[in-house]
Amino acid sequence: MLEDKDRIFTNIYGLNDPFLKGAHSRGDWNKTKNIIAIGSDKIIEQVKESGLRGRGGAGFSTGMKWSFMPKPDSKRPHYLVINADEGEPGTCKDREIMRSEPHKLIEGALIASVAIGAHAAYCYVRGEFFRETEILQRAVDEARNAGLIGKNACNSGYRFEFHIHRGMGAYICGEESALIESLEGKKGQPRLKPPFPASVGLWGCPTTVNNVESIAVVPTILRRGANWFSNIGRANNTGIKLFNISGHVNTPCTVEEAMGIPLRELIEKHAGGVIGGWNNLLAIIPGGASVPVLTRVLSEKALMDFDSLNELQSGLGTAGVMVMDKSTDILKAITRLSLFYKHESCGQCTPCREGTGWMWRMMERICQGNAKLEEIDRLGEVTKQIEGHTICALGDAAAWPIQGLIRHFRPEMEKRIRNFKSTQFRTA
Ligand code: SF4
Repeated sequence: MLEDKDRIFTNIYGLNDPFLKGAHSRGDWNKTKNIIAIGSDKIIEQVKESGLRGRGGAGFSTGMKWSFMPKPDSKRPHYLVINADEGEPGTCKDREIMRSEPHKLIEGALIASVAIGAHAAYCYVRGEFFRETEILQRAVDEARNAGLIGKNACNSGYRFEFHIHRGMGAYICGEESALIESLEGKKGQPRLKPPFPASVGLWGCPTTVNNVESIAVVPTILRRGANWFSNIGRANNTGIKLFNISGHVNTPCTVEEAMGIPLRELIEKHAGGVIGGWNNLLAIIPGGASVPVLTRVLSEKALMDFDSLNELQSGLGTAGVMVMDKSTDILKAITRLSLFYKHESCGQCTPCREGTGWMWRMMERICQGNAKLEEIDRLGEVTKQIEGHTICALGDAAAWPIQGLIRHFRPEMEKRIRNFKSTQFRTA
């Protein structure tokens, strides 16, 4: 369990002042000028050494991502884009950072921008986060008035501006290239890659897109040292992470914990345990709606990090833990997720546009029991035709929950179909 002395987000519950005075008392903006002075290469080196992996879901090394940016030249400006579009069902960590620790995000954006040679950061905030945007904007204004950002950020001679852009609530704009399109004022649809944003990003310029949490932890890593961060968690899965625990638990919460904490411990220590006890657990979605479900037996073994959950054929994703007890109709729950992905598909590529609709319709019928047994395999085949055959990961995200359902709950699906058939027979 994470010790209090190692916490980064000491005001994550918003119990204290989120603004500049409170931020100073928590150590934010402390000697930021010295961090800027160490320069781009050393900042990137430190972040690489810390082992920080992107907190938005993909888990790619943050330092490595920064190192892909070309050296700054006078022809094209560089940009940092912060993904605050947090639309993954079950996930609500970035909004907590924005409303309770906004200065960690702004300071992190300044340091990340120095690392990648950017003088402007654009924070793309989910449209529904109205209050969070207000708080963030007030914090940005405070930072500017105090000289922490602006023409001479922290008196370092570095020019840096932080801009906020509100989205309109489309889930797909959380995909980095769709987000860039949307920022440019176009329809939020993912771009084909390559070229990657590091070479052709916002307005055709080199751009790095990072998640809010990835950016907000950077100042503390640089102040306390890469070793401090990398000594928490497990090899290749280091540091601290915000987890959201929702569903059938006694005290749903957002909590900061060490990477690699056992899933059961996370739920029992911080969320008051499963309603009705651990034996009443049916399944857990451990990383936001797009990762495959785990059974109770697998949840017992799971460690909350990228590698452990991959080994269990699931994923850490956004670390939005959704707990379902035995009162849950698991078929109905996954059908609802299928409807979500069908609704959020941008419609640009055929396997996703058509396939998400097929999957949802098949799931609806199987959920009612009004299907043939062989359709379970057909549904599995459809998921395989979508997975890996689309422009962006939304296709995969739509396929994986169904694959998890078939893998672990096939007997439930078959039972539903058989029961429906026997009811029809009796009625006839
Ligand atoms: Fe759009 Fe879906 Fe294709 Fe992504 S996978 S680009 S959401 S149609």
